[in-house]
Amino acid sequence: MNQLRIVGGTVYDPANGVSGEVRDICIDDGRIVDSLPASARRLDASGMVVMPGGVDIHSHVASGSVNLARRLLPEEHEADPAAAPALTGGDEARSGTGGTIPSTFTTGYRYAGLGYTTVFDAAVAPIMARTSHGELDDTPIVDAGFFVLMGNDEYLLRLVAAGERAQAREYAAWLLGAAGGYAIKVVNPGGVELWKRGARDRVGLDTPVGSERVTPRAILETLVEAANGLGLPHAAHIHCNDLGVAGNVATTLASMRAVEGRRAHFTHLQFHAYDAAPDGTRRSGARPLIEYINAHPEISGDVGQVMFGAATTLTADGAVEYLLHKSSGRRWVNVDIELETGCGVVPHTYKEKNAVSALQWVVGLELFLLAADPWRMVLSTDHPNGGSFLAYPELIRLLMDRGYRDSCLARVNQTLLAGSAMADGIGREYTLDEIAIVTRAGPARLLGLTRKGQLGPGADADVTVYARDEDVSKMFATPRYVVKGGTLVVEEGQLRRAPRGQRLHVRPGYDGAVETPLREFFDRHATVSFRNYPVGDLRDTPIMVGRT
Ligand SMILES: [Zn+2]
Repeated sequence: MNQLRIVGGTVYDPANGVSGEVRDICIDDGRIVDSLPASARRLDASGMVVMPGGVDIHSHVASGSVNLARRLLPEEHEADPAAAPALTGGDEARSGTGGTIPSTFTTGYRYAGLGYTTVFDAAVAPIMARTSHGELDDTPIVDAGFFVLMGNDEYLLRLVAAGERAQAREYAAWLLGAAGGYAIKVVNPGGVELWKRGARDRVGLDTPVGSERVTPRAILETLVEAANGLGLPHAAHIHCNDLGVAGNVATTLASMRAVEGRRAHFTHLQFHAYDAAPDGTRRSGARPLIEYINAHPEISGDVGQVMFGAATTLTADGAVEYLLHKSSGRRWVNVDIELETGCGVVPHTYKEKNAVSALQWVVGLELFLLAADPWRMVLSTDHPNGGSFLAYPELIRLLMDRGYRDSCLARVNQTLLAGSAMADGIGREYTLDEIAIVTRAGPARLLGLTRKGQLGPGADADVTVYARDEDVSKMFATPRYVVKGGTLVVEEGQLRRAPRGQRLHVRPGYDGAVETPLREFFDRHATVSFRNYPVGDLRDTPIMVGRT
């Protein structure tokens, strides 16, 4: 009953060395298997392209800040009503709204409709974790989890000030389990705290945050060591200091050097790759950054590509949102969450004729096109910060089609592009193999999800089948079939089923002694009791953690 043979498709499965071979994919009870009896149900994929389901390593789909953004943008809801899909088989179908931040159900439907089957929210304040789990419960089809914000939280800063790095590791383990999170997220380490204290200058790595012992560098080292020491499936996921600022590539490179030789993931690097021209304006700093990454196999990143059109910037980096609000005059909201982190939201529009937007678009493409190892520089738009996840097909076309890319480049504002690699011309065109790497195999590997992003026996049966089209953006925007966990969710391009997805989370062991001072801290300072803080048991089993 739960068997399916996808017949005759051209398979791209780079994790297993399969590059454009015509072969069948066999599915039994939610997993990929070697073979099936002849009687198994068949799905004809002749002439079509078959890949593992897409894996989004960095998105914003379920968190306190995402909900704030929804409330800030009522006009988006009105402009893009989303009718309930016509599901078969008795799954609940819900209407919703779209725009740059779709409602929960619509988020699940649209990701699946795009051929994506796994998504991570990249920034959840631990005290908001319960809300995030509630939102993910209402985001059907996709397997999902989130990264837990650390690095501007009062308790961690106290541990760093005391030089208690081992304690900090145990606290991080406790916090991940309490929140039901998947990875450690570091956002502008120490910088949000400095901004809250009134600082408005560039942060760099060595500005003291209160105590001389607490610096962005010390926080970064502490949390990278914690993620690696705990053997978490994903490295510490780092949003560097000085996002968006001219010359910030120096801070980004210094951050990478600070943790040299240790596994670390640097996110939305496009926003952190600006050099400064002599007149103080931004110019591309992509080349030195990608050259460093190319030479350091322990480092990985995602791009955070900017796509022209409407976006919503939302981040735990409240300092950045303050600057963007000041420069753009757009409405904004900022919240500090229980001394755990900040959070800000500002709507934004990236325009071809705007010099900074054009530079950002170019810097992102340079990171993709100059990356020597696509396994370590994967696709993201930092949805909805650089653009919606619905823009991924257009981004794929830019990577695969130089003629199209050059015609777009000719249209954009050239003011800040002098000396950039793109302006000099980059001939590279991504292959379907490389697209499969940056959209599924690579993110899955970086996330430590051994059963995702690949189609070998034992893998989760998450499979996307695309009908070929001259215009690859059309091909990737409307997959013909999508299978999630063995269930055919998209048939003939229509969403037909919406099973619930799995929650991806870890629960590392920790030294119980960490709880005594934590309980005291909660009793003294928190609005939530220590006992009520953890989210409790989740439906799905935690992913195994291998402490080293
Ligand atoms: Zn983000």
